[in-house]
Amino acid sequence: MLNILFSAKPAAWDEYQAPLNAAFAEAGLSVNLAREHAPQDVDYIIFTPNGPVTDFRPYTKTKAVMGLWAGVESIVDNETLTQPLCRLVDESLTAGMVEWVTGHTLRHHLGMDLHILHQDGVWRDDSFPPVAAKRPVTILGIGALGAACGQALTALGFPVTGWSRNPKNITGIRCLHGDDGLHEALTDAQIVILLLPQTPDTANILNADTLALMAKGSFVINPGRGPLIDDDALLAALDEGQIAHATLDVFRIEPLPEDHAFWAHPQVTVTPHIASTTRPETAAKVIVDNIVRGESGLPFRYLVDRARGY
Ligand code: NDP
Repeated sequence: MLNILFSAKPAAWDEYQAPLNAAFAEAGLSVNLAREHAPQDVDYIIFTPNGPVTDFRPYTKTKAVMGLWAGVESIVDNETLTQPLCRLVDESLTAGMVEWVTGHTLRHHLGMDLHILHQDGVWRDDSFPPVAAKRPVTILGIGALGAACGQALTALGFPVTGWSRNPKNITGIRCLHGDDGLHEALTDAQIVILLLPQTPDTANILNADTLALMAKGSFVINPGRGPLIDDDALLAALDEGQIAHATLDVFRIEPLPEDHAFWAHPQVTVTPHIASTTRPETAAKVIVDNIVRGESGLPFRYLVDRARGY
């Protein structure tokens, strides 16, 4: 019998308890899944950073901490965490992100705001967008989410460039990496999508210098993390017309403070960190599969590299 500690907000327990127990039963694992266990008896912790466990030192027997979130910036620096940490890669989380990114890319590409926001009796039949093939899209971060978004956009005909830390080879995507690759990836891009993790290396990656590389009148879409963007530089680029519109789902402070300039800016769309979310039915299977791997002596999937920060 494995002792599994569920350390997240109480509402998450209500959502996850049944799918997790079903997935454990299906996998043939005998477990005691609970919100409380004696720390020294816990085999695995299923975890979100807003749950009760913050000090991992008493969990001396714990074989791994299984995160329910894709982003790990709020736990990766926790010095008490010496156990392996796995983040979540989940097909539903990915599907939701692909839909959100594709929707906002098409909205900007097609200029849909012009018609949706100005239904005023004026027959504006003089503006057609270019076809997708003439609208270069760049995705900074082509991991689980960025690569899936890139492939969906490629399928729609957009020329997609992706940028990562290490060299990559993804069908249909022009893959670049490293500092020179960033310069090339952003130069003349018309839509830039941020799907990087929040680390010291990615902070302010979109700043006055990098925004200036993009095509005049281009679009920024950020479902990654708020600190990827220098807010003041973005506001200046919007006011100068270098950037036509920014659609932002994530912010340095969340909820975004009421008096933040983004709320009132006519060329900014604020969404409240809803680009995608973890779905219990699919996430439970991923977590249980990973625990089965651990119990079988196989390496865990989706291990976080603490030194790298993601
Ligand atoms: P992955 O770890 O799979 O991918 C991260 C990508 O970023 C990789 O391609 C990685 O490169 C690249 N990268 C990281 N650091 C650097 C760097 N210094 N320079 C260049 N490239 C870098 O993460 P996911 O795709 O699963 O998730 C990405 C982010 O999306 C999460 O960290 C989270 O912040 C955000 N997110 C937002 C949600 C929302 O609702 N708004 C929901 C879920 C996630 P390499 O491949 O070489 O390692």
